[in-house]
Amino acid sequence: MRIRELLKFNLIDYPGKISAVVFVPGCNYSCPACHAKKILNEESLIKEDDFFKYLGEARQWVNGVVLCGGEPTLEADLIPFARKLAAAGIPVKLDTNGSSPEVLERLLNEKLINYAAMDVKGPPRLLGSITGTLSVPAQAVKRSIRAVAGFPDYEYRTTIVPVIRDEGNISFLTPAELSDTARMITETTGSSGHKYYIQKFVPRKDGLLDKRLESFPETPLPLLEEMKAEAAKYLPECEIR
Ligand code: SF4
Repeated sequence: MRIRELLKFNLIDYPGKISAVVFVPGCNYSCPACHAKKILNEESLIKEDDFFKYLGEARQWVNGVVLCGGEPTLEADLIPFARKLAAAGIPVKLDTNGSSPEVLERLLNEKLINYAAMDVKGPPRLLGSITGTLSVPAQAVKRSIRAVAGFPDYEYRTTIVPVIRDEGNISFLTPAELSDTARMITETTGSSGHKYYIQKFVPRKDGLLDKRLESFPETPLPLLEEMKAEAAKYLPECEIR
C-alpha cells in the first residue's frame, strides 16, 4: 500500500493504544477546510517493507496501527495490507471519510479492522459544499454509517467547519444542521447508542484548500456547547473533542 508519511509513535489517535500512524496520499474529497490534502501528495513514498520492518522492531511498545490520510479506502492494496497487520496480531484503527462503503463492508466481513472512525461531514444537503465535491451520494454515506456500526469499536465525528454557502457567504455549521447530521446517524443505524464527537475547526495559516477559511476563527466554545446540546437529542453519548 502507498504510504506517504509514518508517525512512528502516537498516544492520541488510537484511544488506549500506543500507535504507529500511517498516512496514505490522496483523497477523493476537496474539503475547503482541509490542511492535509496538499501535504499528502504522491511524492517520496515510504516502502511497505520498511514500515513492516519498523513495526517488527517497535512491537515492544507499539500496540496499534492507525490508517489515515488522505483516504485509506481508496488504496487498491488496503485489504492485503490490513490482512498483513491482522496476521501480525496488531489492532488496527481506520479513519475514513465514508465514501467507499463497499471497502468498509469487505474490511468488516474479513474482520480486519478493530476500530473505525468515520467523519460524517454534515447533513446530506451540505455534503457538496463541505466536501468541495459535487458527487457525494448521501446513500453511500449512509451505507458507510451502517457499516461502521458493525466494527468491534467505532466512532462518528463531525468537525464544526465554516461552510461556504450560496453567493460565497461563509458561516459555521449551525446547531440545526448538526442536529440533522446526528439524526441521520440515528435514523440510518436505527440506534442512538453511538460515540459521537464534535470537533472544533482550527484555523491554519499554512495552507487550507480554500484560502478564504485561513483567517476564519476557531469554532467558539459556546457554539460547540450549543451543538453538543442539539446533537445529544439524537446521540446522547455526544462529546466535544
Ligand atoms: S476528507 Fe476532506 S479533510 Fe479529509 S483528507 Fe479528504 S479533503 Fe482532507
